[in-house]
Amino acid sequence: MMKIPKAIQNLIESFERLPGVGPKTAQRLTFYLLHVPQGELDKFAGSLQELKKGTILCSRCFMIGESDPCDICQNEERDQSTICVVEQPLDVYALEKNGRYKGVYHILHGKIDPLNSIGPDEIFIHQLLTRIKVYEGKGKKVSEIIIATNPTMEGEATAMYISKQIKNNHSHIKLTRIGRGLPVGADLEYADEVTLQRAMEGRSDYG
Ligand SMILES: [Zn+2]
Repeated sequence: MMKIPKAIQNLIESFERLPGVGPKTAQRLTFYLLHVPQGELDKFAGSLQELKKGTILCSRCFMIGESDPCDICQNEERDQSTICVVEQPLDVYALEKNGRYKGVYHILHGKIDPLNSIGPDEIFIHQLLTRIKVYEGKGKKVSEIIIATNPTMEGEATAMYISKQIKNNHSHIKLTRIGRGLPVGADLEYADEVTLQRAMEGRSDYG
């Protein structure tokens, strides 16, 4: 049997580790790249190498950016007492598109997903509670936590868990959940601007 060259096999295996990429797609992408000029490939490789080196996680909200604290946390015109909790950095870009939201964010980097063994400790929930404690320790008050996890089963489970934690530890904070107009099972990052805006304005008391 003919053996696939090692260089090709390695790349196929790397692609296969990406979410949503099966063996067939991994092969197709790899063989496609064989036809791409070397200069383009070098650029691609360079981008991969710089991906993590050129970015930093904000130690306050866990947004990915180029500085710590990130631009939003540093911005004195943003209301630091309103925190919108989202699953992924991409959700922040989606919500920032229309520029109406003036509060800050907290990025969980995931959702509670027992089927894939992701519990509350695997995402940045604990850090949210610590953040509130630190903020209020300075004599300030968090006025509202907007839970903007996706309207999926895992997103709802995550929202419920967070609301319980906040109520137990900081019962004075107003808890809201965005959602109206967002189709059940939808991903925030794919929702259009108008729908997201409506979901944000139509947020309701939660928990
Ligand atoms: Zn930040």
